[in-house]
Amino acid sequence: MKLAKNLERLGTESAFKILAEAKKLEAEGKKIIHLSLGQPDFKSPKHVVDATKKALDDGHHGYVLPNGIIECREAVTRKIKKLYDVDINPERVIIMPGGKPTMYYAITLFGEPGAEIIYPDPGFPIYESMINYTGAKAVPINMLENKNLSINPEKILSLINEKTRLIIINNPNNPTGAFTEKDKIDHLAEGLKKFPHVAILSDEIYSRQIFDEKKMPTFFDYDFLYDRLIVLDGWSKAYSMTGWRLGWSVWPEKLVDHVVKFCVNNHSCVNAAIQYGAIAALDGPDDSINFMMGKFTKRRKLIFEGLNSIKGIECSLPGGAFYAFPNVIGTGMNGKEFAKKCLHEAGVAIVPGTAFGKKAIDYVRFSFAASQDNISQALENIKKIVG
Ligand code: PLP
Repeated sequence: MKLAKNLERLGTESAFKILAEAKKLEAEGKKIIHLSLGQPDFKSPKHVVDATKKALDDGHHGYVLPNGIIECREAVTRKIKKLYDVDINPERVIIMPGGKPTMYYAITLFGEPGAEIIYPDPGFPIYESMINYTGAKAVPINMLENKNLSINPEKILSLINEKTRLIIINNPNNPTGAFTEKDKIDHLAEGLKKFPHVAILSDEIYSRQIFDEKKMPTFFDYDFLYDRLIVLDGWSKAYSMTGWRLGWSVWPEKLVDHVVKFCVNNHSCVNAAIQYGAIAALDGPDDSINFMMGKFTKRRKLIFEGLNSIKGIECSLPGGAFYAFPNVIGTGMNGKEFAKKCLHEAGVAIVPGTAFGKKAIDYVRFSFAASQDNISQALENIKKIVG
């Protein structure tokens, strides 16, 4: 067999590898506390499950439009209106099988040898993987420069040149849990006016997981960017629906046909019945989100204070998502060594920072999508193996 050359450049998401390793240890009888996975540990809302079951009972089991059923796209626009007070044409909305396909398609639309794409490092690993796959040059934004790990708009703007095609922004950020305030996003959006050849992919998948009652600084606020703005969001994190494989994105009008072609070539359409569940999620009460955020707020305090109380570990306060991203070099170990020791000696599965980019050698990611008891136990176990 002779495989395509560009396959060598395709990366992966190592959180899944860590899960497999942890599961192997569990099968050998070891007790493992899982703080590696990026998914809320709550059930999907009952009214969403019920609406999906009903859709199947009602016979919604065939192919539907590749861009999503109109009712679901309209529900997305109603939610955008409710959350951000902007009107979006549902023809610009595409329902996707998860958040990931939007980044895949956006990067594929712009990436090719000779092009440059700017992405966060550390960041969601699929950005860099896909950029490399297309043959474009992956230009990292160093997310570790600011002490609170937030975005530095001037630094990002300084990375743009005539070859830049796309900038990827992810706020709140995975893996750092950092939240960048609106004034900085305003600054970035304003600065982008000078570069009309550059498209923006704003990954807002954690838009409903922001602490301290802060508002989401969405790129929907900048209508002057709409002709080159892609916004990625979805149900996975907000409604604890990661396994449903459901996401939505809003595209510039002139890109919609290209993206729909990708959908047709790839997955034809998103599962019909779950799109009715998706409508129920968006139109229904936000109780499940509020409940989840209540839990995450308590866990954030626990993990932030717990990690900082361990000698050699320094952690900034996560402002969004459900991740803590401490620097562990003071323990005498780099992130990889630390994560390995945690798994094998403390029975705690976490992810080394380098799983999210080359820059985060001294860091590890803790997901606090786990019970307070498990987080407390994990912190206790780690305390024992450090120092
Ligand atoms: N974007 C970011 C920043 C993520 O962290 C994730 C998942 O972890 C995704 C997108 C993908 O979400 P989905 O599971 O809906 O594909």
